[in-house]
Amino acid sequence: MTVATGSILTGLGVGLNAVRGEVFRVKPQAAIPGPAKHGGDTDAEKETLRGAITHVASYLDELAIKAGETSAEIFEALKMLLEDEDLFETAVTEIESGWNAATAFIVAVDSLEEIFAGDAAFEERLVDLKDLAKRVAAHIAGVHMGLDLPTSGAYVIVGDDFSPADTAQFTDAVVGVVTIKGGPTSHTAIICRSKSIPAVVSCTQAAELVDGVSVLVDPVGDRVVVGGDDSMATKAISFVAKSLDPIIPVRANIGSLEDSIQAATTAANGVGLFRTELLYLSESTMPSAQKQAKSYAEILKAAPEGPIVVRTIDAGSDKPVPFLDMPHEENPALGIRGFRLIQDHRQFLIDQLTSLEVARKESGREVWVMAPMIATAAEAIEFAEMARSCGEYKVGIMVETPAIAMALRDLGGKIDFISVGTNDLSQYLFAADRMNAGLGALLNPWQPALVRMLQVIASESEAAGISSGVCGESASDPAFAVVLAGLGFKSVSASRSQVGAVRSALSAVSLEQAKEVAAIAVTATTADGCKAAVLDALAKLA
Ligand code: PEP
Ligand code: MG
Repeated sequence: MTVATGSILTGLGVGLNAVRGEVFRVKPQAAIPGPAKHGGDTDAEKETLRGAITHVASYLDELAIKAGETSAEIFEALKMLLEDEDLFETAVTEIESGWNAATAFIVAVDSLEEIFAGDAAFEERLVDLKDLAKRVAAHIAGVHMGLDLPTSGAYVIVGDDFSPADTAQFTDAVVGVVTIKGGPTSHTAIICRSKSIPAVVSCTQAAELVDGVSVLVDPVGDRVVVGGDDSMATKAISFVAKSLDPIIPVRANIGSLEDSIQAATTAANGVGLFRTELLYLSESTMPSAQKQAKSYAEILKAAPEGPIVVRTIDAGSDKPVPFLDMPHEENPALGIRGFRLIQDHRQFLIDQLTSLEVARKESGREVWVMAPMIATAAEAIEFAEMARSCGEYKVGIMVETPAIAMALRDLGGKIDFISVGTNDLSQYLFAADRMNAGLGALLNPWQPALVRMLQVIASESEAAGISSGVCGESASDPAFAVVLAGLGFKSVSASRSQVGAVRSALSAVSLEQAKEVAAIAVTATTADGCKAAVLDALAKLA
């Protein structure tokens, strides 16, 4: 069935510019030969398998280079899984029982499924590992695998969702991206934002788009217009700065030295979230205190002027850290993650805070520390005491669970600040797994229940005398940042590519106007209605 010209397909927009292009549906992958036995030479099969794994590992290296800093860690972590010696030995056992190299490797990877059944974080990675096993088999069979994207022209790529390996293959001919599934915090969304490719994700009706149809990808309008032209693009509000400084400080989110250097080229007022676990996603041995102090000092020295908010390790669930031995869990997003790691890894947390203190002194920077995934006032107080005994920090917590949002009044005088992680707060407020590609609409920050929860958090922290900020992805949306300022948050921290746009929006309105806009947002009853009403109010002010 083809979609009629003029049809509007709704989803969630990523980016501020619209783009027109021809639909390119990602083709099904070439067929790989089915399971087969070998002719008896087990050594030759082992050698073939080693060679194919090495080939696919170097393909991952190439992808990591193409992807750049933002997603290189993802490919390094995949490479570690692919080259795991235990996995190879399992495949060798299969070869010894008669299967050829390709079949043996696929069977070995499949066997992991049973071992890790129910471990949601590993299941996500298993999907990627299975894709790599197919690549190993394809290499052995001489079959070409890839998206086979066009290299010239202007195409809008349409597919269910794209893995990190897929997004790294995007050619210059990919001018826009539409995903049928995938949410606002999916890999596709994060990578498109970092590459400035306009995208619309969670666009269910895009399943009916066929090759060659011209579409307008209109991220600001959260829609795809079939046959649409540039004149139909929803304009992002062009904010006219009324003052030099934004009504509240805009900080940057970082996760590496490179990010810190790049953030310093923006007008960010310091760093609002340094995700320390991103340094360690592919480390199989625990970094020594000296090594930690060295890397923290480099990052602190490079960071933009202003305070630097460092989050202690947030390992677990979607961010497994290989050197921390984590228990197998049925539901890791609800399990031992973030500050709960203290149960088994208290010493690592202390080492991190002490190494950071060495780095703080060496860099001479103002450092604030905060713990992720806090659920009770007792946990917050335990963290505050631990952090103050390790260094001269302002001490805070992330608000990512509805439970701690309801306990802020118990923390007056105990902590200095809070920073709201709206990515996880949405996940736990809506009981919607942020890794589930089908639940993007519930993770939309404009959902009225999230906006009203944020209102409660801002006023409860104000009443308790605790400074409050927001560092989740929602703060990277200029219009949403105005709502946050109007709700009473004292700072926002955005993805570094969005710092300029967020600052412009917050320099174009007065605090009184932001409060009026926030008052409109909290009365909305649907996510679309909330966004539309806020944009309308802002357009009148601009
Ligand atoms: C959040 O949950 O909003 C957040 C900032 O933390 P992360 O995305 O790293 O979980
Ligand atoms: Mg979080």
